[in-house]
Amino acid sequence: MNILTFDIEEWYIEKAHRGGRSYRYKQFDETFTKLIDELDRLQLKATFFCVGQLGKDFPEIVKKIAGRGHEIGCHSNMHTWLDKMDEATLLQDTKDAIKALEDVSGQKVLSYRAPAFSITENNKWAVSSLAECGIENDASIFPATRDFGGYPSFPCDVPCKVSFEGATLKEYPLGLTTVLGKKIAYSGGGYFRLIPYWFVNRTIENREYNICYFHLSDLIQEEHKLMSKADYEEYFKQPGTLKNRFIRYAKSNVGTGDAYCKLVRLLKEHAFVNIQVADKEIDWGIVQTINL
Ligand SMILES: [Zn+2]
Repeated sequence: MNILTFDIEEWYIEKAHRGGRSYRYKQFDETFTKLIDELDRLQLKATFFCVGQLGKDFPEIVKKIAGRGHEIGCHSNMHTWLDKMDEATLLQDTKDAIKALEDVSGQKVLSYRAPAFSITENNKWAVSSLAECGIENDASIFPATRDFGGYPSFPCDVPCKVSFEGATLKEYPLGLTTVLGKKIAYSGGGYFRLIPYWFVNRTIENREYNICYFHLSDLIQEEHKLMSKADYEEYFKQPGTLKNRFIRYAKSNVGTGDAYCKLVRLLKEHAFVNIQVADKEIDWGIVQTINL
């Protein structure tokens, strides 16, 4: 089973943090239209995890996604990472986001992905908060170490149930592969851009479960500038050292040139479903339950 997902926040981030530059909006609009038309041609339905503020500030985007028959999922309200929130904040943030997305899309929002896969060992309580908000499916766990967070002790990388203090979610963790003894992601973001197509393709063929994830910015060829210390610290809430800023710079730029074509090739060569469809195909009675 291959699941196709997108995390959508670009227009909001541009408006809230980057000054609302019109050429960036134009790039997002063009890439988005190209992508959503391609999905129609290929008769593919994806899950689009959208930030709630997109529903408020750019409702036409959410309406267009829903109108083409894709699933609207929640990607937090303002792209705040969950490890920067306490329980009360996460509850409010999720309720606000779900309301904004449901009002605009007319769909019930049941699926969630935390920005930057930020459910970790330090905020397992997020599972109960999300369940309390009506979320049933989660795709926020990155079961290995990554530069921001990750959940290296999470014991599986296939669909399972996660349970915390009586609340349970159906979990779609990120699939991983092993290279030189190290677990790495291959199916989205910077990993997808960096890794050659043949390797991604072979890994997807060899695994029974894959979940692909892309941001529009992964698919736009643009020379991102090195962020200023102040911008980096405001956005990532981490020290804006030259090293940290340079790593981010390299990750934002590598492989963006051919990422869109690589994605289209992948979509043509493999069958994909969204989380809504996957949910019906998985026998949840026999999957592992992981008590966090
Ligand atoms: Zn995101």
